[in-house]
Amino acid sequence: DKGNVLVTGGAGYIGSHACKALAAAGYTPVTYDNLVTGWQDAVRFGPFERGDLLDRARLDAVFAQYRPAAVMHFAALSQVGEAMAQPGLYWANNVTGSLNLIEAAVAAGCDRFVFSSTCATYGEHDNVVLDEDTSQQPLNAYGASKRAIEDILRDFEAAHGLQSVIFRYFNVAGADPEAEVGEFHRPETHLVPLMLDAIDGKRDALTVFGTDYDTPDGTCIRDYVHVCDLVDAHVLGLNWLQDGKGSRVFNLGTGSGFSVMEVIEQSRAVTNREVPYAIGPRRAGDCTKLVSGSVRAEQELGWSPQRSSMSTMIADAWRWHQSGHYDR
Ligand code: UDP
Repeated sequence: DKGNVLVTGGAGYIGSHACKALAAAGYTPVTYDNLVTGWQDAVRFGPFERGDLLDRARLDAVFAQYRPAAVMHFAALSQVGEAMAQPGLYWANNVTGSLNLIEAAVAAGCDRFVFSSTCATYGEHDNVVLDEDTSQQPLNAYGASKRAIEDILRDFEAAHGLQSVIFRYFNVAGADPEAEVGEFHRPETHLVPLMLDAIDGKRDALTVFGTDYDTPDGTCIRDYVHVCDLVDAHVLGLNWLQDGKGSRVFNLGTGSGFSVMEVIEQSRAVTNREVPYAIGPRRAGDCTKLVSGSVRAEQELGWSPQRSSMSTMIADAWRWHQSGHYDR
């Protein structure tokens, strides 16, 4: 047993996959989740502690009980639309909540921290390759909250020696190929699950948010990475910190961009079903194009995405979608 890792948001989409990967790598993932956007039945690997990041006493008790050697911090609100409408929620939950967690970790002597940040911290950059040194000018309070947490981590390193690996995610898709865990948000706002629901008749037609962007087909371009590849990078990040390699920022994307229309087309091909969709207006806060231009994770961490082709991501998401686990 390689010891306990505190996984905030372990009941959520990415966190639940991280728990499976950690368990497979010999760690004991301890999920800390308030179940506001997570699901208790998604906690299938390791113990579950229900709690809120805003509850410092509860955090201290969980650190004292499990003495984790490291934290993986996934718990956050993460919807651009909601962040535009309710920025205060994002500053309180994401920034104040993360500050509590970071302070609790430092107080407990836990100095290894793996953090879920986002390419939304970069904002709009015309014709610029997004690497880790690109300036961060987030367009919405979601990205701004994540950038602020990155700043807190840097300050806590300088003052307290906290070592962090910051992962800036591009778009995450797919599901555990064994369909033990998968993507399930309520409300759902993400492209791939909404599309699969529309294909399946579980909800109305997908709305394509804008066809007047400055891209070849007019729809937004994103860089999609398979959730299993993404969490594999986290296990490598944990090893990186254990090896004493120090704080580092890594983009997690594949470098390939897909437009919304291309994702729709690939889904039609993979599922062999029509995708009902309608064209709608732009969604506030969306960037035109977010594609990683970095190979740092591959070169330095030895990360090598295995399942991040668009067809494999959709096939895995579709398998999960059709499994009994999907309908809660
Ligand atoms: N999108 C869309 N219709 C939807 C949901 C998303 O056209 O119902 C588009 C969205 O504008 C973006 C892309 O799909 O360009 C991915 O959006 P998602 O919400 O999945 O992730 P985000 O890029 O916001 O992290």
